Amino acid sequence: MEIVNRRLTLAEFRGLIATFDFGPISPDKLVIHHTWKPTQATWAGQRSINGLKAYYEGKGWPAGPHLFVAEDGIWLFSPMNKDGIHAGTLNFHSIGIEVVGDYDNEVWSGQTKANALGVIKVLMDRLSIPQGQVFFHRDVSPKTCPGRAITKEWLFAELATVRVMPRIPRLAEDGPLSISAPVPSTNPSTFVPVPEWAMEAVRFVTDHQLFEVKNDDDIRDAVKFHRFYQLIQSSHG
Ligand SMILES: [Zn+2]
Repeated sequence: MEIVNRRLTLAEFRGLIATFDFGPISPDKLVIHHTWKPTQATWAGQRSINGLKAYYEGKGWPAGPHLFVAEDGIWLFSPMNKDGIHAGTLNFHSIGIEVVGDYDNEVWSGQTKANALGVIKVLMDRLSIPQGQVFFHRDVSPKTCPGRAITKEWLFAELATVRVMPRIPRLAEDGPLSISAPVPSTNPSTFVPVPEWAMEAVRFVTDHQLFEVKNDDDIRDAVKFHRFYQLIQSSHG
């Protein structure tokens, strides 16, 4: 079985997905799982991935789920441009997402929660997947997967509050004082010159993962936020 075997941060995952080639027919649904075992406590990163690979190979499967989402990051497992094997009839044109842990009695928490919500949001946005196409394994299986504590009501309420880690502004090729600032309703490839003090503010909100900077309004918000922060700092300093 071939696996991608890379561990990404959520920001890296977002960057990957932005330009990822999902193949001739894009996935049109997500299937959420939990590993049950390994639990969060017994997850051991690369060793766990190796163990899971051996487990699926032992079943004679040519593929497994696409992603394992854990405290230590987002592990790319089976390639996302091919169908995986994880959910029977839902294997076709879906992305299988395993959240590491046992969620029969508790909901996601910590970095696992942030990573899981972020991954789901990034994929829903990029692939235009509506809520009705976000499945749980138990929708087609007698298992409790992705855990009894995880309900769609809870998941979609949580997703509504998620701000995915900001994209690092892309520097324009013609100079360091421009960032790509697509204005949604006009020309998406317009490059708007931004002075260095505004770039500093953009870097501030980006580094602190406050919000995503993707248009002029976001840049203005970043500048306001940064000035406000500086004011507070100076009044305490
Ligand atoms: Zn499952």
